[in-house]
Amino acid sequence: MFEKILIANRGEIALRIHRACKEMGISTVAVHSEADSGAMWVRLADESVCIGPASAAKSYLNIPAIIAAAEITGAQAIHPGYGFLSENARFADIVGAHGFTFIGPKPEHIQMMGDKITAKQAVMRAGIPVVPGSAGALTTEEEAIAAADEIGFPVLIKAAAGGGGRGMKVALDRESLAEAVSTARSEAKAAFGDDAVYMERYLQKPRHIEIQVIADAFGNVCHLGERDCSLQRRHQKVLEEAPSPAIDAAAREKIGKVVVDAIKAIGYLGVGTIEFLYENGEFFFIEMNTRLQVEHPVTEAITGIDLVREQIRIAAGLPLSFTQEQVVFEGHAIECRINAENARTFTPSPGKVTDFHAPGGLGVRLDSAVYAGYVIPPFYDSLIGKLIVHGRDREECLARVNRCLGEMVVGGVDTTIPLFQDLIHQPEIIAGDYNIHWLEKWIKAQADEA
Ligand code: ADP
Repeated sequence: MFEKILIANRGEIALRIHRACKEMGISTVAVHSEADSGAMWVRLADESVCIGPASAAKSYLNIPAIIAAAEITGAQAIHPGYGFLSENARFADIVGAHGFTFIGPKPEHIQMMGDKITAKQAVMRAGIPVVPGSAGALTTEEEAIAAADEIGFPVLIKAAAGGGGRGMKVALDRESLAEAVSTARSEAKAAFGDDAVYMERYLQKPRHIEIQVIADAFGNVCHLGERDCSLQRRHQKVLEEAPSPAIDAAAREKIGKVVVDAIKAIGYLGVGTIEFLYENGEFFFIEMNTRLQVEHPVTEAITGIDLVREQIRIAAGLPLSFTQEQVVFEGHAIECRINAENARTFTPSPGKVTDFHAPGGLGVRLDSAVYAGYVIPPFYDSLIGKLIVHGRDREECLARVNRCLGEMVVGGVDTTIPLFQDLIHQPEIIAGDYNIHWLEKWIKAQADEA
């Protein structure tokens, strides 16, 4: 087992990884920008290294500085967390070339899944059903028209290098197609430096259901069930739950087996998430994330499995600590991503947190690096923390979420706590009857009313 791990990330996920390391008796090295020098995960880590100024491009994305920090401190492995360099195949390669272990999948799989067109082709070959769409990247206007006519309008133009919901445009008909393609292209170029786009059928009322998988170096592959992430704003997840209110044990077992067989065929290593849209009882692959997900704690809550611990064990060459038969799903879990944002306008609200009180009690987990007196910097995402609540069933879980939101205090900045307090009282949410478009429509209706 490793003696020292460098955590190449910040905020709640850096703290999350530190916690797993401590429980495993592993020393931690935090890296941080000049804007994060007093942060909680930096102070809790055994050692810390400043890797650059506030700008992420010069710090958390600064590969030479991170490698130098690992060399100076004698770390043996690097955990990339999520975001930043976590899905950068070149970084994974460089980490290995310098004699460190990258805690994540092999660079070739990061590369394969990082381009959504090659990802779709790879999983299709491995037997996973995908959203009907263009065979590859769209090059000419005629090609786009022909593809759309075959798929049927409305269609969605997506960036091959996409992420974070950027570079996506809907075309309702032939007339709006050319503009949707060119807008998606220029957005993709600006965000990812790659203007390749492809086309998919635009599904009208799907749920976003993703399957967590985990594979060790001995050919053991397990799935840890699904997460329902249908509550989204601007294609970004807001609240996640497990299990999904929309699927039963038989459907779970069936899609779980398809995914496990495909992951085995690909020869994947580590944790990964296969994301699907689910409509009329059918699963359609959209993408694979080759890293730990923000919403991984809901899976941990219902399985009792520490995913970061398993990641570290796999990277150290140890087998999975459980078999598929030993994975048991217990109760229901919900995660609320609480941001420093206005709950109605979603305007970011960085600044000093004057008071902070975390909710507690049975089945309650708050993953957050915030404390009273902490200043939320304006340079990064606006996540204050993730409230993860577990109950014996969905009803108990919702009641507990409600109770926790009422207990939580974050003074000095705007937060999205009131949004969640509203949401969990909506009949559709209580009934579990919502799809990926529901939240946007509800937000719009609220704004129109006001
Ligand atoms: P990103 O990598 O940018 O997150 P994804 O492919 O994972 O992009 O899609 C993000 C979200 O966008 C999905 O969860 C879903 O809400 C929406 N979306 C993606 N593809 C489609 C589609 N074909 N039809 C309808 N909505 C889609």
